[in-house]
Amino acid sequence: MRRKLIAGNWKMNGLRASATQLVQGLLDGVSGGGPSCELLVCPPACLLETVGGLIAGTPIALGGQDCHHGAEAGAHTGDISAAMLKDAGCAYVILGHSERRSDHGEADDLVRAKAGAALAAGLTPIVCVGETAAQRDDGRTLAVVEDQLAGSLPQPAPGQALVIAYEPVWAIGSGRTPSTEEVGEVHGAVRRWLDARLGGEAAAAVRILYGGSMKPGNAAELLAVPDVDGGLIGGASLKAEDFLAIAQACD
Ligand code: PEP
Repeated sequence: MRRKLIAGNWKMNGLRASATQLVQGLLDGVSGGGPSCELLVCPPACLLETVGGLIAGTPIALGGQDCHHGAEAGAHTGDISAAMLKDAGCAYVILGHSERRSDHGEADDLVRAKAGAALAAGLTPIVCVGETAAQRDDGRTLAVVEDQLAGSLPQPAPGQALVIAYEPVWAIGSGRTPSTEEVGEVHGAVRRWLDARLGGEAAAAVRILYGGSMKPGNAAELLAVPDVDGGLIGGASLKAEDFLAIAQACD
């Protein structure tokens, strides 16, 4: 039985004061017994220490938004290694988000190397895949997602220590979401793809998150779709009330 994961991708948002306020709101929300799902927040790197300090010893886990593809340390200006994230208290790292693929030209092979580096450091990678609007309109959604899986997942891919996020690019930050049938079609295809490559037991352990304009108002129906094992939440993770309402929709 996979425990659902609700992960907040704060992107490039937050200063120490606002991050502290947001985390305080989350902690207040879970103080009387939180939701049954696992909760994760992924703040910008410079807030990891602030946020990590506030959530240490609580049911909320910490994650990074990216990491270097190989080195633990060295001459890589501006980069952060997986070992550094681990040292900062992270358990997860988001990799291959469409904004990194488009803003930084990250291709599948780089994402795969980053995922390998994350695993080697003891982090669970959250590998993002998803089609653009044009690719969906062309009827290529499943082919695109399967190609990205083939190119981006670490080799060998573990079961339990791997999370995949299906995030249609056109749904991110747009307020638009695929129908539950469309989400189910992609998640089912991802599970079958994993099953064929990793075998039943490992494939069954991988959590597949849906991401893209998940909000309190649509979370329950999206999270009830078979093979949707949680959500990767952008905008709505910046409001404690909304993030907690999404988490509660798992129950
Ligand atoms: C995301 O960027 O991972 C995301 C899902 O964003 P939003 O929830 O804002 O669509």
